[in-house]
Amino acid sequence: MTNTPELIKAKVAAETKLTAEVVRMLADFETSGERERFQIASLYAFCVDYLGYSKGSAWRRVAAVDLLRRDPSMGEKLDSGELNLSNAAKIESVMKEANKQGIEIPAVNLFEAAKGSTRTVELQIEKIAEAHGLKSIGHSASLKEKFTKLIALLSHKHPGLTEEGLLHLLADQALAKLDPAQKPARPGAGEAYQETRYVTPKLEAHIWQRDEGQCTHTNPLNHGRCQETHFLEVDHIVPFARGGLTTAKNLRLLCRRHNQMHADAEGLPRRRVAQPPRTTAVPLAFGT
Ligand SMILES: [Zn+2]
Repeated sequence: MTNTPELIKAKVAAETKLTAEVVRMLADFETSGERERFQIASLYAFCVDYLGYSKGSAWRRVAAVDLLRRDPSMGEKLDSGELNLSNAAKIESVMKEANKQGIEIPAVNLFEAAKGSTRTVELQIEKIAEAHGLKSIGHSASLKEKFTKLIALLSHKHPGLTEEGLLHLLADQALAKLDPAQKPARPGAGEAYQETRYVTPKLEAHIWQRDEGQCTHTNPLNHGRCQETHFLEVDHIVPFARGGLTTAKNLRLLCRRHNQMHADAEGLPRRRVAQPPRTTAVPLAFGT
């Protein structure tokens, strides 16, 4: 049998339906309490360790599950293929943030924005979120300016300091002064930090969820975020070799290109967070 474009297209439609079905099964697995009954730590862990999804694929499916629980009508959009997993995950992260800020944004409004080309979806979604009064999570310009000045002043002692790294330093200084529980001035004291490079699976899962399975590099000129969702690596913001801690605050997801770029900028050899040995089957890295 020859594979005609029509045949492939029909198969893709079936694949889309199947993907939506898996998301529904996962949602049911979660809400029915089955996941807990099997003593599986999280749906994300289940997707990676048992089902063999890549981390990005697992993250998108878990986000889609959360979205379905928030608004079951999104299930039909997944079935029809009008909503893909990437956009479902984006909508879910906006709705989660809106929920935190006590703002109601109907999922369908965000879905309408998500129908455009993938490149512009994020912007559209942000616009709608802002129109509903969602505060952006970025810093104000005046705060950015202060950060820039401080980073310049500290650049000799702390080369390659990032905003996160700076916040660490400032927080440590403030804590050393203000926290009565702290004995004088061991940097990072009082914080449950790790002095090893090793990122525990739990911490790694947290980083993936927090960074939404996407590279966190932002273009310094237009503040656009890198769209890469594949080949991501957990990166130490303040390099481990320079005393950066293995804590959530000092870790981020970067794509290979940007991981390499940051390493080059800091004059370091390419660095990677040590991975725990794999005990499960090698996952299939589906792109969706
Ligand atoms: Zn990137």
